[in-house]
Amino acid sequence: MDASDVADDLVEVLFTEKQIQDRVAELAAEIERDYDGKDLVLVGVLRGAVMIMADLARALGKHVEMDWMAVSSYGSGTKSSGVVRILKDLDADITGRHVLIVDEIIDTGLTLSWLTSNLGSRGPASVEIATLLRKPEALQMPVKARYVGWDIPNEFVVGYGLDYRERYRNLRDIGTLSPSVYS
Ligand code: 5GP
Ligand code: MG
Ligand code: MG
Repeated sequence: MDASDVADDLVEVLFTEKQIQDRVAELAAEIERDYDGKDLVLVGVLRGAVMIMADLARALGKHVEMDWMAVSSYGSGTKSSGVVRILKDLDADITGRHVLIVDEIIDTGLTLSWLTSNLGSRGPASVEIATLLRKPEALQMPVKARYVGWDIPNEFVVGYGLDYRERYRNLRDIGTLSPSVYS
């Protein structure tokens, strides 16, 4: 298997590696301005946010702590139920600190809605969300993301951390899969 094998199943590329890097750099510049002089903890949501966490954190020219949470949402197949369980909690104490949740996509918003209120109950100075992608048509819960890379149509995408059955996370671009992959 060579590197192109991973990309072969894409039917359409929505965002190239270069477009993603440029947009992440723009978001980082905004974040740097907004949190100037503030103590910032980035909270990445495993596993999808691994790529954007790595790129966003390195694009930031300020000190940040990088911490991680893993949550699982009970539900059948691809549907979120809104019932969320913590599989891995933060190591950091976020009391009095500025928290920025970093995620790769907001779909129904159930996960991040739950996570925002969970972290909010721990006495942080603030809790905000940065997400690379958002599907406005799929939103079921009000989730206010302060930093959004792009709004996309309500279709299933993979790459740059986003998986289909744990594959395609290591794709450099983001795109849609060929229907033959699902059958
Ligand atoms: P929610 O529905 O709670 O906003 O989305 C939670 C999670 O569902 C996301 O973090 C992501 O892991 C997964 N998800 C939602 N939409 C997509 C998609 O289009 N592609 C992939 N690969 N995962 C998605
Ligand atoms: Mg995620
Ligand atoms: Mg997934």
